[in-house]
Amino acid sequence: MTHRLALAAFVFSSIFAAFMLWYLPMHSYWLVPTAIVLLLLLIFASVWANNTNKVAQLPRQNPLPVLVVKADGNLIFANPSANMLACRLFGEEASAADLLPSALLTSIRNGNIPTTSPIFQIDQYWYRFLLAQSDTKECFCYLEDVTESEERRLKLEYMAYHDPVTNLGNRAMLLEKIEQLADEDHYLTLVLVAIESLDEAASVQGLPATEHYLTILAENLARIFSSVIKNIEVTTVRFNGYEFGALFPCELSDAQKHLIEEQLIALLGRPQSIANRDYWLNYYIGMAGTNPKNAEHLPRRAHVALYSGRANDQRFQCYDVHLEQLIAERARLEQALSQAITNNELALHYQAQISINDNHLVGFESLMRWQHEGKMVSPGIFIPIAERHGLIRELGEWAIDETCRTLAKWLQEGHQTMIAVNVSAQQFIDPNFARIVRQAISKYQVPPSCLQLEITESLLMEDEQQSLRLMRELKALGVSLAIDDFGTGYSSFAYLSRFPVDKLKIDRSFILGLSKGPKDEAIVAAMLDVGEKLGMQVIAEGVEHDHEISKLKRLNCQLVQGFYFSKPLPSEQAIKLFDEY
Ligand code: C2E
Ligand code: CA
Ligand code: CA
Repeated sequence: MTHRLALAAFVFSSIFAAFMLWYLPMHSYWLVPTAIVLLLLLIFASVWANNTNKVAQLPRQNPLPVLVVKADGNLIFANPSANMLACRLFGEEASAADLLPSALLTSIRNGNIPTTSPIFQIDQYWYRFLLAQSDTKECFCYLEDVTESEERRLKLEYMAYHDPVTNLGNRAMLLEKIEQLADEDHYLTLVLVAIESLDEAASVQGLPATEHYLTILAENLARIFSSVIKNIEVTTVRFNGYEFGALFPCELSDAQKHLIEEQLIALLGRPQSIANRDYWLNYYIGMAGTNPKNAEHLPRRAHVALYSGRANDQRFQCYDVHLEQLIAERARLEQALSQAITNNELALHYQAQISINDNHLVGFESLMRWQHEGKMVSPGIFIPIAERHGLIRELGEWAIDETCRTLAKWLQEGHQTMIAVNVSAQQFIDPNFARIVRQAISKYQVPPSCLQLEITESLLMEDEQQSLRLMRELKALGVSLAIDDFGTGYSSFAYLSRFPVDKLKIDRSFILGLSKGPKDEAIVAAMLDVGEKLGMQVIAEGVEHDHEISKLKRLNCQLVQGFYFSKPLPSEQAIKLFDEY
Protein backbone atom coordinates (compact mmCIF):
# COMPACT_ATOMS: atom_id res chain seq x y z
CA MET A 1 0.00 0.00 0.00
CA THR A 2 2.79 2.41 1.01
CA HIS A 3 4.55 1.51 -2.19
CA ARG A 4 1.49 2.44 -4.23
CA LEU A 5 1.14 5.80 -2.42
CA ALA A 6 4.82 6.57 -2.95
CA LEU A 7 4.43 5.68 -6.63
CA ALA A 8 1.40 7.92 -7.01
CA ALA A 9 3.18 10.80 -5.23
CA PHE A 10 6.21 10.23 -7.41
CA VAL A 11 4.20 10.34 -10.66
CA PHE A 12 2.25 13.39 -9.55
CA SER A 13 5.44 15.23 -8.45
CA SER A 14 7.18 14.35 -11.72
CA ILE A 15 4.35 15.81 -13.84
CA PHE A 16 4.26 18.90 -11.66
CA ALA A 17 8.06 19.31 -11.88
CA ALA A 18 8.06 18.97 -15.69
CA PHE A 19 5.29 21.54 -15.96
CA MET A 20 7.21 23.94 -13.71
CA LEU A 21 10.45 23.54 -15.64
CA TRP A 22 8.55 24.65 -18.75
CA TYR A 23 6.63 27.39 -16.92
CA LEU A 24 9.36 28.71 -14.58
CA PRO A 25 11.44 30.90 -16.91
CA MET A 26 8.28 33.04 -17.46
CA HIS A 27 7.15 33.27 -13.83
CA SER A 28 10.11 33.37 -11.43
CA TYR A 29 7.91 33.70 -8.30
CA TRP A 30 7.19 29.91 -8.74
CA LEU A 31 10.84 29.19 -7.95
CA VAL A 32 10.41 28.37 -4.24
CA PRO A 33 7.39 26.04 -4.57
CA THR A 34 9.10 24.26 -7.47
CA ALA A 35 12.22 23.66 -5.39
CA ILE A 36 10.09 22.24 -2.56
CA VAL A 37 8.28 19.90 -4.96
CA LEU A 38 11.57 18.75 -6.46
CA LEU A 39 12.92 18.07 -3.00
CA LEU A 40 9.81 16.05 -2.09
CA LEU A 41 10.20 14.21 -5.37
CA LEU A 42 13.73 13.28 -4.44
CA ILE A 43 12.70 12.09 -0.96
CA PHE A 44 9.84 9.94 -2.32
CA ALA A 45 12.06 8.46 -4.96
CA SER A 46 14.72 7.43 -2.48
CA VAL A 47 12.19 6.01 0.03
CA TRP A 48 10.52 4.04 -2.71
CA ALA A 49 13.76 2.73 -4.15
CA ASN A 50 14.91 1.70 -0.70
CA ASN A 51 11.67 -0.08 0.12
CA THR A 52 11.58 -1.93 -3.14
CA ASN A 53 15.12 -3.08 -2.49
CA LYS A 54 14.20 -4.30 1.04
CA VAL A 55 11.25 -6.32 -0.22
CA ALA A 56 13.53 -7.96 -2.70
CA GLN A 57 16.01 -8.71 0.06
CA LEU A 58 13.48 -10.29 2.49
CA PRO A 59 14.13 -14.04 1.96
CA ARG A 60 17.75 -13.33 1.26
CA GLN A 61 18.29 -11.63 4.64
CA ASN A 62 16.02 -13.96 6.59
CA PRO A 63 17.98 -15.47 9.49
CA LEU A 64 15.97 -18.69 8.99
CA PRO A 65 17.11 -20.93 6.16
CA VAL A 66 14.69 -20.38 3.27
CA LEU A 67 14.36 -22.68 0.27
CA VAL A 68 12.11 -22.18 -2.71
CA VAL A 69 11.25 -25.34 -4.59
CA LYS A 70 9.49 -25.57 -7.92
CA ALA A 71 6.54 -27.88 -8.39
CA ASP A 72 8.84 -30.38 -10.13
CA GLY A 73 10.97 -30.58 -6.98
CA ASN A 74 13.87 -28.51 -8.23
CA LEU A 75 15.39 -26.00 -5.87
CA ILE A 76 15.30 -22.54 -7.40
CA PHE A 77 16.31 -20.40 -4.51
CA ALA A 78 18.24 -20.84 -1.24
CA ASN A 79 19.07 -17.90 1.00
CA PRO A 80 22.55 -17.53 2.58
CA SER A 81 21.31 -19.09 5.86
CA ALA A 82 20.21 -22.19 3.99
CA ASN A 83 23.52 -22.43 2.16
CA MET A 84 25.42 -21.95 5.40
CA LEU A 85 23.34 -24.64 7.12
CA ALA A 86 23.95 -27.11 4.29
CA CYS A 87 27.71 -26.46 4.50
CA ARG A 88 27.66 -26.81 8.29
CA LEU A 89 25.80 -30.12 8.20
CA PHE A 90 27.18 -31.76 5.07
CA GLY A 91 30.51 -30.03 4.40
CA GLU A 92 31.76 -27.18 2.19
CA GLU A 93 30.77 -28.84 -1.07
CA ALA A 94 27.18 -29.43 0.01
CA SER A 95 24.22 -27.87 -1.77
CA ALA A 96 21.20 -26.39 -0.03
CA ALA A 97 19.12 -28.93 -1.95
CA ASP A 98 20.55 -31.56 0.42
CA LEU A 99 18.41 -30.00 3.13
CA LEU A 100 15.22 -31.10 1.41
CA PRO A 101 13.88 -34.38 2.85
CA SER A 102 12.91 -36.82 0.12
CA ALA A 103 9.46 -37.34 1.67
CA LEU A 104 8.77 -33.62 1.37
CA LEU A 105 10.04 -33.53 -2.22
CA THR A 106 7.70 -36.37 -3.10
CA SER A 107 4.75 -34.47 -1.60
CA ILE A 108 5.69 -31.32 -3.53
CA ARG A 109 6.02 -33.27 -6.78
CA ASN A 110 2.64 -34.92 -6.15
CA GLY A 111 1.13 -31.52 -5.59
CA ASN A 112 0.04 -32.20 -2.03
CA ILE A 113 2.13 -29.88 0.08
CA PRO A 114 1.50 -30.63 3.77
CA THR A 115 -0.82 -28.14 5.38
CA THR A 116 0.71 -28.78 8.81
CA SER A 117 4.35 -27.90 9.46
CA PRO A 118 6.14 -31.24 9.33
CA ILE A 119 9.28 -31.93 11.37
CA PHE A 120 12.16 -33.72 9.67
CA GLN A 121 15.47 -34.95 10.99
CA ILE A 122 18.42 -33.52 9.08
CA ASP A 123 21.68 -35.06 10.19
CA GLN A 124 21.43 -35.05 14.02
CA TYR A 125 19.12 -32.03 14.12
CA TRP A 126 15.40 -31.60 13.85
CA TYR A 127 13.79 -28.91 11.66
CA ARG A 128 10.21 -27.81 11.41
CA PHE A 129 9.37 -26.95 7.78
CA LEU A 130 7.01 -23.96 7.63
CA LEU A 131 5.53 -24.25 4.15
CA ALA A 132 3.78 -21.76 1.90
CA GLN A 133 2.80 -22.04 -1.73
CA SER A 134 3.06 -19.10 -4.11
CA ASP A 135 0.57 -18.31 -6.88
CA THR A 136 3.04 -19.81 -9.31
CA LYS A 137 3.00 -23.16 -7.35
CA GLU A 138 6.46 -22.65 -5.91
CA CYS A 139 6.84 -23.97 -2.42
CA PHE A 140 8.51 -21.66 0.09
CA CYS A 141 10.15 -23.65 2.91
CA TYR A 142 11.24 -21.82 6.05
CA LEU A 143 13.34 -24.10 8.29
CA GLU A 144 13.04 -23.67 12.05
CA ASP A 145 15.51 -25.52 14.29
CA VAL A 146 13.38 -27.43 16.86
CA THR A 147 16.08 -29.87 17.95
CA GLU A 148 15.81 -29.05 21.64
CA SER A 149 12.03 -29.37 21.97
CA GLU A 150 11.91 -32.38 19.63
CA GLU A 151 14.59 -34.23 21.60
CA ARG A 152 12.67 -33.51 24.79
CA ARG A 153 9.50 -34.86 23.22
CA LEU A 154 11.24 -37.94 21.86
CA LYS A 155 12.79 -38.62 25.26
CA LEU A 156 9.37 -38.47 26.93
CA GLU A 157 7.95 -40.73 24.26
CA TYR A 158 10.84 -43.16 24.71
CA MET A 159 10.32 -43.19 28.47
CA ALA A 160 6.63 -43.95 28.01
CA TYR A 161 7.42 -47.06 25.96
CA HIS A 162 10.70 -48.34 27.40
CA ASP A 163 12.06 -49.76 30.60
CA PRO A 164 14.75 -47.36 31.88
CA VAL A 165 16.88 -50.17 33.37
CA THR A 166 17.17 -52.63 30.48
CA ASN A 167 16.17 -50.31 27.60
CA LEU A 168 13.81 -53.02 26.43
CA GLY A 169 10.27 -52.03 25.56
CA ASN A 170 7.79 -51.99 28.42
CA ARG A 171 4.27 -53.23 29.00
CA ALA A 172 2.78 -50.21 27.17
CA MET A 173 4.87 -51.02 24.11
CA LEU A 174 3.82 -54.66 24.21
CA LEU A 175 0.13 -53.79 24.40
CA GLU A 176 0.45 -51.27 21.58
CA LYS A 177 2.39 -53.76 19.46
CA ILE A 178 -0.25 -56.45 20.04
CA GLU A 179 -2.92 -54.03 18.85
CA GLN A 180 -0.90 -52.97 15.83
CA LEU A 181 -0.06 -56.54 14.75
CA ALA A 182 -3.67 -57.63 15.27
CA ASP A 183 -4.80 -54.75 13.05
CA GLU A 184 -2.36 -56.03 10.44
CA ASP A 185 -4.06 -59.45 10.80
CA HIS A 186 -1.09 -61.34 12.23
CA TYR A 187 -1.37 -64.47 14.35
CA LEU A 188 0.29 -63.62 17.69
CA THR A 189 2.42 -65.61 20.11
CA LEU A 190 3.49 -64.26 23.48
CA VAL A 191 6.15 -65.86 25.66
CA LEU A 192 6.48 -64.68 29.25
CA VAL A 193 9.43 -65.44 31.50
CA ALA A 194 9.04 -64.80 35.23
CA ILE A 195 12.17 -64.80 37.35
CA GLU A 196 11.50 -65.44 41.00
CA SER A 197 13.57 -64.98 44.15
CA LEU A 198 15.45 -61.98 42.75
CA ASP A 199 14.20 -59.84 45.60
CA GLU A 200 16.44 -61.76 47.97
CA ALA A 201 19.50 -61.16 45.79
CA ALA A 202 18.51 -57.49 45.48
CA SER A 203 18.29 -57.09 49.23
CA VAL A 204 21.73 -58.67 49.71
CA GLN A 205 23.57 -57.23 46.70
CA GLY A 206 21.78 -53.91 46.38
CA LEU A 207 19.81 -52.42 43.53
CA PRO A 208 22.66 -51.36 41.18
CA ALA A 209 24.10 -54.89 41.09
CA THR A 210 20.67 -56.40 40.50
CA GLU A 211 19.89 -53.89 37.78
CA HIS A 212 23.20 -54.66 36.11
CA TYR A 213 22.26 -58.34 36.15
CA LEU A 214 18.84 -57.53 34.70
CA THR A 215 20.45 -55.59 31.85
CA ILE A 216 22.62 -58.53 30.89
CA LEU A 217 19.70 -60.92 31.28
CA ALA A 218 17.58 -58.67 29.02
CA GLU A 219 20.26 -58.77 26.32
CA ASN A 220 20.47 -62.55 26.53
CA LEU A 221 16.71 -62.98 26.39
CA ALA A 222 16.40 -60.63 23.41
CA ARG A 223 19.18 -62.56 21.65
CA ILE A 224 17.48 -65.91 22.26
CA PHE A 225 14.05 -64.71 21.12
CA SER A 226 15.30 -63.02 17.99
CA SER A 227 17.32 -66.08 16.97
CA VAL A 228 14.32 -68.43 16.94
CA ILE A 229 12.95 -67.36 13.57
CA LYS A 230 15.11 -65.60 11.02
CA ASN A 231 13.96 -62.33 9.46
CA ILE A 232 11.09 -61.77 11.80
CA GLU A 233 10.73 -58.85 14.13
CA VAL A 234 10.31 -60.01 17.73
CA THR A 235 9.35 -57.45 20.36
CA THR A 236 11.13 -58.26 23.62
CA VAL A 237 9.92 -56.31 26.63
CA ARG A 238 10.35 -56.11 30.37
CA PHE A 239 6.73 -56.71 31.19
CA ASN A 240 7.03 -55.66 34.80
CA GLY A 241 9.37 -56.24 37.75
CA TYR A 242 11.13 -59.51 37.04
CA GLU A 243 8.86 -60.56 34.19
CA PHE A 244 9.97 -60.44 30.56
CA GLY A 245 7.98 -61.03 27.41
CA ALA A 246 8.53 -61.69 23.72
CA LEU A 247 5.88 -61.09 21.09
CA PHE A 248 6.10 -63.01 17.82
CA PRO A 249 3.96 -61.90 14.87
CA CYS A 250 3.28 -65.53 13.92
CA GLU A 251 2.40 -68.99 15.18
CA LEU A 252 5.35 -71.03 16.48
CA SER A 253 5.97 -74.59 15.40
CA ASP A 254 6.56 -77.29 18.02
CA ALA A 255 10.24 -77.29 17.08
CA GLN A 256 10.45 -73.52 17.62
CA LYS A 257 8.68 -73.78 20.97
CA HIS A 258 11.06 -76.53 21.98
CA LEU A 259 14.03 -74.40 20.92
CA ILE A 260 12.84 -71.51 23.08
CA GLU A 261 12.30 -73.81 26.04
CA GLU A 262 15.71 -75.41 25.59
CA GLN A 263 17.59 -72.14 25.26
CA LEU A 264 15.81 -70.45 28.17
CA ILE A 265 16.47 -73.42 30.42
CA ALA A 266 20.12 -73.40 29.34
CA LEU A 267 20.30 -69.70 30.24
CA LEU A 268 18.38 -69.74 33.52
CA GLY A 269 18.92 -73.27 34.76
CA ARG A 270 22.43 -72.52 35.93
CA PRO A 271 23.74 -70.22 38.67
CA GLN A 272 23.29 -66.55 37.84
CA SER A 273 26.15 -64.25 38.71
CA ILE A 274 25.05 -61.15 40.61
CA ALA A 275 27.89 -59.01 41.96
CA ASN A 276 30.26 -61.96 41.50
CA ARG A 277 28.08 -64.22 43.62
CA ASP A 278 26.24 -67.21 42.21
CA TYR A 279 22.49 -67.38 42.69
CA TRP A 280 20.08 -70.14 41.74
CA LEU A 281 16.98 -68.40 40.56
CA ASN A 282 13.59 -69.91 40.19
CA TYR A 283 11.89 -69.17 36.88
CA TYR A 284 8.82 -70.09 34.89
CA ILE A 285 7.95 -69.71 31.22
CA GLY A 286 4.40 -69.31 29.95
CA MET A 287 3.38 -69.24 26.30
CA ALA A 288 0.12 -68.41 24.55
CA GLY A 289 -0.93 -67.86 20.98
CA THR A 290 -4.02 -66.38 19.41
CA ASN A 291 -5.56 -65.32 16.13
CA PRO A 292 -5.79 -61.54 15.70
CA LYS A 293 -9.49 -61.49 16.68
CA ASN A 294 -8.71 -62.50 20.25
CA ALA A 295 -5.51 -60.48 20.57
CA GLU A 296 -6.74 -58.58 23.62
CA HIS A 297 -6.80 -61.85 25.65
CA LEU A 298 -3.21 -62.73 24.79
CA PRO A 299 -1.35 -61.26 27.84
CA ARG A 300 -3.86 -62.81 30.26
CA ARG A 301 -3.58 -66.22 28.60
CA ALA A 302 0.21 -66.13 28.73
CA HIS A 303 -0.12 -65.30 32.43
CA VAL A 304 -2.54 -68.18 32.98
CA ALA A 305 0.07 -70.49 31.41
CA LEU A 306 2.78 -68.96 33.59
CA TYR A 307 0.78 -69.25 36.82
CA SER A 308 -0.31 -72.81 36.24
CA GLY A 309 3.24 -73.77 35.33
CA ARG A 310 4.33 -72.29 38.61
CA ALA A 311 1.55 -73.98 40.55
CA ASN A 312 2.50 -77.37 39.08
CA ASP A 313 6.22 -76.72 39.24
CA GLN A 314 6.38 -76.94 35.48
CA ARG A 315 9.15 -74.78 34.02
CA PHE A 316 7.50 -74.40 30.62
CA GLN A 317 3.77 -74.28 30.12
CA CYS A 318 1.70 -73.55 27.03
CA TYR A 319 -1.77 -72.08 27.41
CA ASP A 320 -4.72 -74.41 27.33
CA VAL A 321 -8.30 -73.47 28.06
CA HIS A 322 -8.43 -76.08 30.89
CA LEU A 323 -5.78 -74.11 32.72
CA GLU A 324 -8.35 -71.37 33.29
CA GLN A 325 -10.32 -73.67 35.63
CA LEU A 326 -7.15 -74.65 37.41
CA ILE A 327 -6.26 -71.02 38.00
CA ALA A 328 -9.78 -70.26 39.27
CA GLU A 329 -9.54 -73.27 41.60
CA ARG A 330 -6.16 -72.06 42.86
CA ALA A 331 -7.58 -68.61 43.50
CA ARG A 332 -10.39 -70.17 45.58
CA LEU A 333 -7.89 -72.30 47.52
CA GLU A 334 -5.66 -69.34 48.13
CA GLN A 335 -8.58 -67.41 49.57
CA ALA A 336 -9.59 -70.34 51.76
CA LEU A 337 -6.00 -71.05 52.87
CA SER A 338 -5.69 -67.69 54.56
CA GLN A 339 -8.60 -68.77 56.81
CA ALA A 340 -7.36 -72.34 57.34
CA ILE A 341 -5.64 -71.75 60.68
CA THR A 342 -8.48 -69.74 62.21
CA ASN A 343 -11.01 -72.29 60.91
CA ASN A 344 -9.02 -75.11 62.51
CA GLU A 345 -8.64 -76.90 59.19
CA LEU A 346 -4.93 -77.67 59.51
CA ALA A 347 -3.46 -80.78 61.06
CA LEU A 348 -0.08 -82.46 61.25
CA HIS A 349 0.44 -86.08 60.31
CA TYR A 350 3.50 -87.95 61.48
CA GLN A 351 5.58 -90.38 59.48
CA ALA A 352 7.90 -92.81 61.22
CA GLN A 353 11.66 -92.92 60.73
CA ILE A 354 13.03 -96.41 61.36
CA SER A 355 16.48 -97.77 62.06
CA ILE A 356 16.50 -100.87 59.79
CA ASN A 357 19.15 -102.90 61.56
CA ASP A 358 17.18 -103.25 64.78
CA ASN A 359 13.73 -102.26 63.44
CA HIS A 360 13.62 -99.47 65.94
CA LEU A 361 11.48 -96.32 65.76
CA VAL A 362 13.90 -93.39 66.02
CA GLY A 363 11.56 -90.49 65.35
CA PHE A 364 9.00 -88.86 63.04
CA GLU A 365 8.62 -86.25 60.37
CA SER A 366 5.61 -83.99 60.75
CA LEU A 367 3.74 -83.32 57.51
CA MET A 368 1.02 -80.75 57.18
CA ARG A 369 -2.50 -81.65 56.12
CA TRP A 370 -5.35 -79.37 55.13
CA GLN A 371 -8.89 -80.58 55.46
CA HIS A 372 -10.88 -78.26 53.21
CA GLU A 373 -14.60 -78.68 52.45
CA GLY A 374 -14.45 -82.32 53.49
CA LYS A 375 -11.48 -83.12 51.27
CA MET A 376 -7.79 -83.52 52.03
CA VAL A 377 -5.73 -81.04 50.01
CA SER A 378 -2.21 -82.27 49.31
CA PRO A 379 0.66 -80.16 50.70
CA GLY A 380 2.18 -80.46 47.25
CA ILE A 381 -0.65 -78.11 46.20
CA PHE A 382 -1.21 -75.82 49.15
CA ILE A 383 2.41 -75.33 50.36
CA PRO A 384 3.47 -73.64 47.07
CA ILE A 385 0.32 -71.47 47.22
CA ALA A 386 1.16 -70.50 50.80
CA GLU A 387 4.75 -69.75 49.78
CA ARG A 388 3.66 -67.56 46.93
CA HIS A 389 1.11 -65.58 48.85
CA GLY A 390 3.13 -64.92 51.95
CA LEU A 391 1.10 -67.35 54.09
CA ILE A 392 3.87 -69.87 54.66
CA ARG A 393 5.42 -68.04 57.64
CA GLU A 394 2.14 -68.18 59.51
CA LEU A 395 1.54 -71.80 58.50
CA GLY A 396 5.13 -72.74 59.28
CA GLU A 397 4.98 -71.08 62.69
CA TRP A 398 1.82 -73.04 63.40
CA ALA A 399 3.58 -76.30 62.31
CA ILE A 400 6.51 -75.67 64.66
CA ASP A 401 4.16 -74.89 67.53
CA GLU A 402 2.00 -77.95 66.84
CA THR A 403 5.05 -80.24 66.42
CA CYS A 404 6.42 -79.08 69.80
CA ARG A 405 3.01 -79.63 71.39
CA THR A 406 2.87 -83.23 70.12
CA LEU A 407 6.49 -83.79 71.06
CA ALA A 408 5.87 -82.58 74.62
CA LYS A 409 2.82 -84.87 74.88
CA TRP A 410 4.68 -87.97 73.62
CA LEU A 411 7.72 -87.28 75.81
CA GLN A 412 5.44 -86.85 78.82
CA GLU A 413 3.89 -90.21 78.03
CA GLY A 414 7.36 -91.71 78.25
CA HIS A 415 8.21 -92.15 74.56
CA GLN A 416 11.79 -91.08 73.98
CA THR A 417 11.70 -89.69 70.43
CA MET A 418 12.37 -86.77 68.10
CA ILE A 419 10.23 -85.03 65.45
CA ALA A 420 11.46 -83.31 62.31
CA VAL A 421 9.47 -80.36 60.98
CA ASN A 422 9.70 -78.95 57.45
CA VAL A 423 10.92 -75.39 57.06
CA SER A 424 10.43 -73.45 53.86
CA ALA A 425 12.84 -70.87 52.46
CA GLN A 426 10.81 -67.84 53.50
CA GLN A 427 10.66 -69.04 57.10
CA PHE A 428 14.36 -69.80 57.18
CA ILE A 429 15.45 -66.34 56.07
CA ASP A 430 12.95 -64.57 58.33
CA PRO A 431 15.06 -62.70 60.94
CA ASN A 432 12.53 -63.78 63.59
CA PHE A 433 12.79 -67.47 62.75
CA ALA A 434 15.21 -68.48 65.54
CA ARG A 435 13.05 -66.60 68.05
CA ILE A 436 9.93 -68.44 66.84
CA VAL A 437 11.68 -71.80 67.30
CA ARG A 438 12.99 -70.78 70.74
CA GLN A 439 9.53 -69.64 71.86
CA ALA A 440 7.90 -72.93 70.81
CA ILE A 441 10.57 -74.95 72.60
CA SER A 442 10.16 -73.03 75.84
CA LYS A 443 6.35 -72.85 75.56
CA TYR A 444 6.10 -76.69 75.65
CA GLN A 445 9.29 -77.25 77.64
CA VAL A 446 10.69 -79.74 75.11
CA PRO A 447 14.41 -80.62 74.99
CA PRO A 448 15.68 -78.79 71.87
CA SER A 449 17.66 -81.87 70.82
CA CYS A 450 14.31 -83.66 70.21
CA LEU A 451 13.35 -81.14 67.53
CA GLN A 452 14.81 -81.33 64.03
CA LEU A 453 14.40 -78.75 61.25
CA GLU A 454 14.36 -79.92 57.62
CA ILE A 455 15.64 -77.45 55.06
CA THR A 456 16.29 -77.96 51.35
CA GLU A 457 19.76 -77.72 49.92
CA SER A 458 18.86 -75.27 47.15
CA LEU A 459 17.78 -72.86 49.85
CA LEU A 460 21.20 -73.07 51.49
CA MET A 461 23.00 -72.46 48.22
CA GLU A 462 21.18 -69.22 47.50
CA ASP A 463 23.30 -67.30 49.92
CA GLU A 464 25.92 -69.45 51.57
CA GLN A 465 27.16 -66.91 54.10
CA GLN A 466 23.69 -66.00 55.28
CA SER A 467 22.69 -69.68 55.44
CA LEU A 468 25.72 -70.48 57.54
CA ARG A 469 24.93 -67.65 59.95
CA LEU A 470 21.29 -68.71 60.29
CA MET A 471 22.18 -72.38 60.72
CA ARG A 472 24.64 -71.54 63.49
CA GLU A 473 21.99 -69.43 65.18
CA LEU A 474 19.57 -72.38 65.11
CA LYS A 475 22.21 -74.87 66.21
CA ALA A 476 22.94 -72.59 69.17
CA LEU A 477 19.37 -73.25 70.33
CA GLY A 478 20.22 -76.95 70.54
CA VAL A 479 17.98 -78.18 67.69
CA SER A 480 19.35 -80.46 64.96
CA LEU A 481 19.31 -79.76 61.22
CA ALA A 482 18.53 -82.04 58.28
CA ILE A 483 19.00 -81.45 54.56
CA ASP A 484 15.76 -82.46 52.83
CA ASP A 485 15.53 -83.84 49.29
CA PHE A 486 19.30 -84.26 49.24
CA GLY A 487 20.70 -84.74 45.74
CA THR A 488 17.90 -82.95 43.87
CA GLY A 489 19.26 -79.42 44.06
CA TYR A 490 22.68 -78.02 43.48
CA SER A 491 24.52 -80.85 45.18
CA SER A 492 27.96 -79.78 46.04
CA PHE A 493 29.56 -82.05 48.58
CA ALA A 494 31.97 -79.19 49.34
CA TYR A 495 29.33 -77.08 51.07
CA LEU A 496 28.33 -79.95 53.34
CA SER A 497 31.61 -79.79 55.22
CA ARG A 498 31.05 -76.11 55.96
CA PHE A 499 27.43 -76.35 57.14
CA PRO A 500 26.53 -77.65 60.61
CA VAL A 501 24.26 -80.41 59.28
CA ASP A 502 23.18 -83.43 61.35
CA LYS A 503 21.24 -85.47 58.83
CA LEU A 504 20.99 -85.98 55.07
CA LYS A 505 17.67 -87.12 53.63
CA ILE A 506 18.29 -88.95 50.35
CA ASP A 507 15.48 -87.97 47.99
CA ARG A 508 12.91 -90.57 47.02
CA SER A 509 13.88 -90.34 43.31
CA PHE A 510 17.21 -92.09 44.07
CA ILE A 511 15.48 -94.81 46.06
CA LEU A 512 13.12 -95.39 43.15
CA GLY A 513 16.16 -95.63 40.91
CA LEU A 514 17.70 -98.41 43.00
CA SER A 515 15.73 -100.99 41.07
CA LYS A 516 16.55 -99.45 37.70
CA GLY A 517 20.27 -99.95 37.49
CA PRO A 518 23.69 -99.45 38.98
CA LYS A 519 23.85 -95.66 38.51
CA ASP A 520 21.46 -94.64 41.28
CA GLU A 521 22.90 -97.33 43.48
CA ALA A 522 26.32 -95.75 43.04
CA ILE A 523 24.90 -92.31 43.87
CA VAL A 524 23.15 -93.60 47.00
CA ALA A 525 26.37 -95.35 48.02
CA ALA A 526 28.31 -92.09 47.53
CA MET A 527 25.80 -90.12 49.61
CA LEU A 528 25.99 -92.65 52.40
CA ASP A 529 29.76 -92.52 52.24
CA VAL A 530 29.92 -88.72 52.37
CA GLY A 531 27.46 -88.63 55.28
CA GLU A 532 29.47 -91.16 57.22
CA LYS A 533 32.78 -89.37 56.58
CA LEU A 534 31.30 -86.02 57.68
CA GLY A 535 29.74 -87.56 60.79
CA MET A 536 26.14 -87.07 59.60
CA GLN A 537 23.21 -89.45 59.78
CA VAL A 538 21.77 -90.45 56.41
CA ILE A 539 18.15 -91.44 55.91
CA ALA A 540 16.56 -92.88 52.76
CA GLU A 541 13.17 -91.33 51.95
CA GLY A 542 10.19 -92.88 50.22
CA VAL A 543 11.04 -96.53 50.82
CA GLU A 544 8.14 -98.69 49.69
CA HIS A 545 9.47 -102.15 48.78
CA ASP A 546 11.31 -105.11 50.19
CA HIS A 547 13.99 -105.05 47.53
CA GLU A 548 14.75 -101.42 48.38
CA ILE A 549 15.19 -102.35 52.01
CA SER A 550 17.57 -105.17 51.17
CA LYS A 551 19.60 -102.97 48.80
CA LEU A 552 19.80 -100.21 51.40
CA LYS A 553 20.86 -102.71 54.03
CA ARG A 554 23.57 -103.96 51.70
CA LEU A 555 24.77 -100.38 51.19
CA ASN A 556 24.89 -100.05 54.96
CA CYS A 557 22.12 -97.47 55.17
CA GLN A 558 20.87 -97.28 58.77
CA LEU A 559 17.76 -95.10 58.60
CA VAL A 560 14.69 -95.24 56.38
CA GLN A 561 11.34 -93.51 56.05
CA GLY A 562 8.54 -94.56 53.74
CA PHE A 563 5.22 -96.23 53.14
CA TYR A 564 6.98 -99.61 53.65
CA PHE A 565 6.84 -98.94 57.38
CA SER A 566 4.13 -96.34 57.71
CA LYS A 567 2.28 -93.62 55.90
CA PRO A 568 2.08 -90.23 57.60
CA LEU A 569 -0.57 -90.68 60.32
CA PRO A 570 -2.60 -88.44 62.62
CA SER A 571 -0.93 -88.15 66.06
CA GLU A 572 -3.39 -90.52 67.82
CA GLN A 573 -2.55 -93.27 65.30
CA ALA A 574 1.15 -92.44 65.03
CA ILE A 575 1.59 -92.87 68.79
CA LYS A 576 0.56 -96.55 68.43
CA LEU A 577 3.75 -97.11 66.40
CA PHE A 578 5.73 -96.88 69.68
CA ASP A 579 4.17 -100.23 70.62
CA GLU A 580 4.99 -101.73 67.21
CA TYR A 581 8.64 -100.74 66.95
P1 C2E B 1 8.85 -83.88 51.89
O1 C2E B 1 9.32 -83.04 53.00
O2 C2E B 1 9.89 -84.44 50.98
O3 C2E B 1 7.97 -84.98 52.49
C1 C2E B 1 7.97 -86.30 52.06
C2 C2E B 1 6.79 -86.55 51.17
O4 C2E B 1 6.87 -87.85 50.65
C3 C2E B 1 5.47 -86.49 51.92
O5 C2E B 1 4.51 -86.00 51.04
C4 C2E B 1 5.21 -87.92 52.23
O6 C2E B 1 3.86 -88.23 52.45
C5 C2E B 1 5.73 -88.58 51.00
N1 C2E B 1 6.17 -89.95 51.24
C6 C2E B 1 6.75 -90.47 52.32
N2 C2E B 1 7.02 -91.77 52.14
C7 C2E B 1 6.62 -92.07 50.89
C8 C2E B 1 6.64 -93.26 50.12
O7 C2E B 1 7.10 -94.34 50.53
N3 C2E B 1 6.15 -93.20 48.85
C9 C2E B 1 5.63 -92.04 48.37
N4 C2E B 1 5.15 -92.07 47.14
N5 C2E B 1 5.60 -90.91 49.07
C10 C2E B 1 6.09 -90.92 50.32
P2 C2E B 1 3.47 -84.95 51.49
O8 C2E B 1 3.04 -85.18 52.86
O9 C2E B 1 2.46 -84.90 50.42
O10 C2E B 1 4.34 -83.64 51.48
C11 C2E B 1 4.83 -83.11 50.33
C12 C2E B 1 5.77 -81.99 50.60
O11 C2E B 1 5.09 -80.88 51.17
C13 C2E B 1 6.83 -82.33 51.59
O12 C2E B 1 7.84 -83.04 50.97
C14 C2E B 1 7.26 -80.98 52.03
O13 C2E B 1 8.15 -80.42 51.11
C15 C2E B 1 5.97 -80.21 52.00
N6 C2E B 1 5.46 -80.09 53.34
C16 C2E B 1 4.68 -80.95 54.03
N7 C2E B 1 4.42 -80.47 55.25
C17 C2E B 1 5.08 -79.30 55.35
C18 C2E B 1 5.23 -78.32 56.41
O14 C2E B 1 4.72 -78.45 57.53
N8 C2E B 1 5.97 -77.21 56.11
C19 C2E B 1 6.55 -77.04 54.91
N9 C2E B 1 7.28 -75.93 54.72
N10 C2E B 1 6.46 -77.94 53.93
C20 C2E B 1 5.73 -79.06 54.15
CA1 CA C 1 10.70 -83.21 54.55
CA1 CA D 1 11.98 -85.00 51.24
